[in-house]
Amino acid sequence: MTTATAPPQFDLQQYKSLENDALAARIQAVRDSLGPELLVLGHHYQQDEVIDQVDLSGDSYQLSRTAADSTECRHIAFCGVHFMAETADILANRPEKLAERGGERVRVVLPDLAAGCSMADMAAIEQIEDAWDQLAEVLDADDITPVTYINSAASLKAFVGRHGGIVCTSSNAKAALDWAFARTSRVMFFPDQHLGRNTALGMGITQQQMPLWDPYADDLGGNDEGALARSKVILWKGHCSVHMMFKPEHVAMLREKHPGIKILVHPECPREVFELADESGSTGKIIKTVEAAPPGSKWAIGTELHLVNRLQQEHPEQEIYFLSPVVCMCATMYRIDLAHLCWSLENLAAGTPVNTIEVDPDIARWSLVALERMLEVK
Ligand code: SF4
Repeated sequence: MTTATAPPQFDLQQYKSLENDALAARIQAVRDSLGPELLVLGHHYQQDEVIDQVDLSGDSYQLSRTAADSTECRHIAFCGVHFMAETADILANRPEKLAERGGERVRVVLPDLAAGCSMADMAAIEQIEDAWDQLAEVLDADDITPVTYINSAASLKAFVGRHGGIVCTSSNAKAALDWAFARTSRVMFFPDQHLGRNTALGMGITQQQMPLWDPYADDLGGNDEGALARSKVILWKGHCSVHMMFKPEHVAMLREKHPGIKILVHPECPREVFELADESGSTGKIIKTVEAAPPGSKWAIGTELHLVNRLQQEHPEQEIYFLSPVVCMCATMYRIDLAHLCWSLENLAAGTPVNTIEVDPDIARWSLVALERMLEVK
């Protein structure tokens, strides 16, 4: 949900014709005037000029932790996508933090409300509830732990919190599955089938034990009762369109062209690519892996284009290639630009904030239960 406030003092249109240098200077002026009360967070997939303006860049887990631990900040401008801003709002405004601040909320602003996530949109709360009800007709629902990837709406995180489940990130997906299997013999994993499958395969769970739940199928997600009875992990039929662009033939092409090259991919990639990779991990891990490699190392990296381009610029001592001949960038992350950031920050400083993300209190309460479990398991 977004909170209604006074009409913005400044109109977005006037920012769109400004040069990036002018916008950067005005953004810096707001950051100087608000000081530590303002935290600008940026996901690794953001454009370079946006990353240049943030206090911290990171993956979903790192940014969530920062929002959760913030003490001085009263405003967060989140350069990322909608579910990330929701998560920041829930963690920064959890009851103990509100009490520390005498009830004062941290305002979380998403510079462009159109910055969503196509993967998160592949699982609506009504679809998840319907799937859960159907599963409860053929399986013991008390023996299923729901696990949602952090790339999901707050309503799904709340569902998971209410049903004894956990949120995971690409950094702690295995730990989250271990946590779940210590409680129940089955897991329902959404919305990204690939993160769920790649992680579970690495834990020795077989493909046959991972039926795919299609929310558009007529009955039981397109499965028969026997397949669900044999299941260990029921995977939701969702994916990231950016990481789906990487193909096994790209791996073969890069290996042939650059002997000795190592393939490093994000676990949102499909299994056929993930299995061919030498290393894998969250964006945070991808960055650390490159940073730790000796000069002359050769990498083909399968994740969002902006991050790979930045790694190429920051590590000229290494040979870094993008693992696809096709441009794979996150179009919704790309919606955040300096014009939107400057517009949202200047309105914030003027007391007419725009694009505030404030999660419904009941959804926030139950999401927090699942998010706190996420922060506990590494
Ligand atoms: S890269 Fe994929 S999962 Fe990440 S925000 Fe974009 S669409 Fe969503």
